[in-house]
Amino acid sequence: MSAEAPLIEVKNLKKYYGESNNIFKRKKEVVKAVDGVSFTIHKGETFGLVGESGSGKSTIGRSLLRLNSITSGEVLYKGKNLHSLSDKEVRKIRPKIQFIFQDPFSSLNPRIRVGDAIGEALLDHGLYRKDEVRKKVLEVMEICGLSLQHIDRFPHEFSGGQRQRIGIARAIILQPDFIVADEPVSALDVSIQAQIINLFSDLQKEKEITYLFISHDLSVVEHLCSKIGVLYLGSMMELTSRDKLYENPLHPYTKALLSAVPVPNPTLKRERIILQGDVPNPANPPKGCKFHTRCPLATDICQQEVPAFREVEPEHFVACHLV
Ligand code: SF4
Repeated sequence: MSAEAPLIEVKNLKKYYGESNNIFKRKKEVVKAVDGVSFTIHKGETFGLVGESGSGKSTIGRSLLRLNSITSGEVLYKGKNLHSLSDKEVRKIRPKIQFIFQDPFSSLNPRIRVGDAIGEALLDHGLYRKDEVRKKVLEVMEICGLSLQHIDRFPHEFSGGQRQRIGIARAIILQPDFIVADEPVSALDVSIQAQIINLFSDLQKEKEITYLFISHDLSVVEHLCSKIGVLYLGSMMELTSRDKLYENPLHPYTKALLSAVPVPNPTLKRERIILQGDVPNPANPPKGCKFHTRCPLATDICQQEVPAFREVEPEHFVACHLV
């Protein structure tokens, strides 16, 4: 791995939510949405964060952009702790760190023409004069594969894939060096997913953009990510390079997720591991290993002791008593 200082460093990040008291609950419930997660992302890398709904992956993404506060820990961007900077300092950094949503339609004002929506951030940040913005918008529309004749159309006139291209254009127009993409293809048809993933990949090569790519689906992150972290109930279960994760997954949860990924070669068959039960309530997670209620390999110790998150081989970290 790179000897350069990381672009993003997340250190022991915790985000707890306190539920309000109500007449049925005497005690205040605390939901540990993110419970001590650490990882680094180097320049030009794509880090995949994978887990089921409720794993805390979107909360981590939002914490990296300071879209939510954190309970403790640090989020460093080029060595600066984003959560201890003043609002003025964050505003200066903001164009460099951008967000792409799962549903770009919800972030587009239906009454604003697409060209204006793509260019508005340039004006907000005072980066270009009004007369220069249209030229810049046409440039990024072309890069993102959008027809230049559509600059004056409204969001409802575009398909799902085109809207995601608009979302990407809005993010890259500010020339960011880091983008958090939260489930950016999960609402799209499979053929369109591949096109958008290729666009992410091309932009990375051309513009050296670093990504945090959030997904519930290991088959989506496989072709784009160089490093992958697998989350469960707010804790990291496994973290390693893409190649090691797909060739030699070590955590039982990763193995179960991978068993659902289709294999392109029809002569090869993966045995499907069906996990029993649902993800437990994050307000009341299981003691010991959080995964023990669904783990096919759980033993007594798994119910008592939290497994340490250990480096079991170079650059391969796993939290499991059996590994
Ligand atoms: Fe399964 Fe135990 Fe490993 Fe947790 S620690 S993943 S319950 S074997």
